[in-house]
Amino acid sequence: MASSIQYAVIGLGRFGSSLSKELTELGHEVLGIDRDEEKVDEMSDILTHSVVADATDEEVLRSLGVRNFDCAVVAIGDNIQASIMAAILLKELGVKTVVAKALTDQHGKVLEKIGVDRIIFPERDMGIRVAHQLVSPNLLDFIELSKNYTIAELVVSKRIAGLTLKELDPRARYGCSIVAINKSEDMIIAPTADDILQENDVMVVIGRKDQIDDFESEAI
Ligand code: ADP
Repeated sequence: MASSIQYAVIGLGRFGSSLSKELTELGHEVLGIDRDEEKVDEMSDILTHSVVADATDEEVLRSLGVRNFDCAVVAIGDNIQASIMAAILLKELGVKTVVAKALTDQHGKVLEKIGVDRIIFPERDMGIRVAHQLVSPNLLDFIELSKNYTIAELVVSKRIAGLTLKELDPRARYGCSIVAINKSEDMIIAPTADDILQENDVMVVIGRKDQIDDFESEAI
């Protein structure tokens, strides 16, 4: 198991509380900070530490020893000013990795200028993800490797069940490659041409986005 990392999560709203709970369940230490006492109370049994504090106050962050944390996440919601201020202070204090949630592109741009290491747009990204999944029913999940290249998880339909990879031949027909097949009982990494696809297996496919789209809509 990966070694335990110390995280500070600032803002325990829907996003911050779900993030900090999951980090704790994954075995990491989490300090949760919120200026709302009720939010802190709700999380106090779940997190390693939780405190009522204003994260835009430099002295407060200093006294909590936030600079010694490996990673701090600014999960403040609609108070953009507070989110920016907290991010500036965390960077100034020298926290190794600062992650912040952005509400709008403009908010994201400011966070980028401050030097925030990773900016996330939960609502925007989830909207994009769900749109892809609605349009492509066989698409379980995907990771964008670059602007053009993607890794996607595609479910094997009844239509192509029983075919070998040679018979399906996505590389010659669509230019994308199957790099793994996840069968419920086992995972085949780097499958060969003779491996047989069964219904509900999950293919891990790498290729250009348009190639994977064509493969998904025409072949599966
Ligand atoms: P979400 O969309 O994730 O639910 P919210 O806006 O509801 O986001 O939650 C953000 C949390 O951040 C709230 O619980 C709020 O009390 C907290 N918060 C806002 N400003 C500060 C601040 N300056 N210091 C600490 N916590 C803050």
